Amino acid sequence: MAKPRKIKIFDTTLRDGEQSPGATLSHQEKIIIAKHLEKMNVDIIEAGFPIASEDDFKAVRDISKEIKKSEVAGLARVVEKDIDRLAKALEPAKKPRIHVVLATSPIHREFKLKKSPKEIIQMGVAGVKYASQFCKNIEFSPEDASRTETAFLYEVLEKTIEAGATTVNIPDTVGYAQPAEFGNLISGIIENVPNIEQATISVHCHNDLGLAVSNSLEAVRHGAGQVECAVNGIGERAGNAALEELAMALKTRSSYYSAETNLNLSEIYRVSQMVSSFTGLLVQRNKAVVGENAFAHESGIHQHGVLCKREAYEIMDPKMIGKESELVLGKHSGKHAVKSVLKEMGYGLKENQVEEITSRIKALADKQKRVFREDIVAIANDVTDQMREEDKRIVLEEVKIFTGNRVQPEAEVSLKIDGKQVVGKAKGVGPVDASAKAIASVISEKVSLKEYNLKAITGGTDALANVVIKVKNSRGKEFLAEAINEDVIMASVEAIINGYNKALFKEGKPK
Ligand SMILES: [Zn+2]
Repeated sequence: MAKPRKIKIFDTTLRDGEQSPGATLSHQEKIIIAKHLEKMNVDIIEAGFPIASEDDFKAVRDISKEIKKSEVAGLARVVEKDIDRLAKALEPAKKPRIHVVLATSPIHREFKLKKSPKEIIQMGVAGVKYASQFCKNIEFSPEDASRTETAFLYEVLEKTIEAGATTVNIPDTVGYAQPAEFGNLISGIIENVPNIEQATISVHCHNDLGLAVSNSLEAVRHGAGQVECAVNGIGERAGNAALEELAMALKTRSSYYSAETNLNLSEIYRVSQMVSSFTGLLVQRNKAVVGENAFAHESGIHQHGVLCKREAYEIMDPKMIGKESELVLGKHSGKHAVKSVLKEMGYGLKENQVEEITSRIKALADKQKRVFREDIVAIANDVTDQMREEDKRIVLEEVKIFTGNRVQPEAEVSLKIDGKQVVGKAKGVGPVDASAKAIASVISEKVSLKEYNLKAITGGTDALANVVIKVKNSRGKEFLAEAINEDVIMASVEAIINGYNKALFKEGKPK
């Protein structure tokens, strides 16, 4: 049997993924995710689009400083100012990659760029040549490739490879391609682009028709050597190809594809949970590989089968993706143990934050006996997400709830707003609603609650409750806020107050 080909994994969670509607990542969260992607052995980490914002620039620059093993890429259009900015951000990178993009399909050429095919080729070639003075590792993406005339696409690829592109990425930008068709496109490129062996063929598939992973795998089968993907499949609109699904398809059916990846699969579940918690984009229960139900058997026949022989109904072992609750700390664990676990997870924390996390872990261990990795991540996120005390305009003093099955729930909330003590009271359909209304009754600025999500972190009625909310201030800016507590009502109240503080803080998004 032929030796399996190595397929490079290009992760764009921090670039395309962060463009998901509703997702926002703080600077520190991006660095933590990047470190975990490196630990997972991702070949290339796309860290941002530096010309788009100062935040993206800083993310690419700081991830470039931190990451040593994986290549670090950033995105630029084929114009000098984009490439200059990207090259500057990539300066500290040990293995930099410049990724330039230019739309090639008729609809983009005529309506967006207003350029002729000849001009498009000149722009692509000029962009690649300009980029190659900064680094030799250059990826070129003809945006909307799957809707570009094939003859023109071949010509664009030939000329940009000649100009120095070492990877040519074929994006199905709008998620329009069908698997067999997309596979044929890759074969066509291999047959018709004379210098194609000088570059790696990559694909970047979107999931508008639910085919991102299928299209990517079909491309691999036809000779693509790199796939672009995002953790949990997040990304523009319906998202990108899901990293975990591609990884496990190539692992489980390696001989069918005659291909494999370099990934350290045991990091998959942890990174999935982390991306979900940081972005606020929850993973659907029945999601392949990383969903809560992915390895749950309900039917008695299936349960019996799995007990006799796991492989009877399971094609993958959940252990392989690191899906097992790990007991890491107990109530006797000291600050040093906590610190080393946090460090191993990629958190760079101040001493007072470590102390707060330690005391909260001890308090939790007292109640719930066992503390799992997920609990620690939740507590650490809660502590690091907190604003500086002096920036908080609202401080919670006390909450009282009156509730039951025969009374209308009522809440009384004591707050300090800009240093002044106030008390709000309200009734609601439930205790959380009553508390939210009581808080709103004493705050004059208009902040609306757009979303409310509640999740238990680890089992049992004494488990930590994680509440993630989204609020919108009067200028229309949205903020994600989160809180965890063993008490559902307290987690909700704290999340709401965190949300108000973020929405009312003058700088927008404080960290
Ligand atoms: Zn995309």
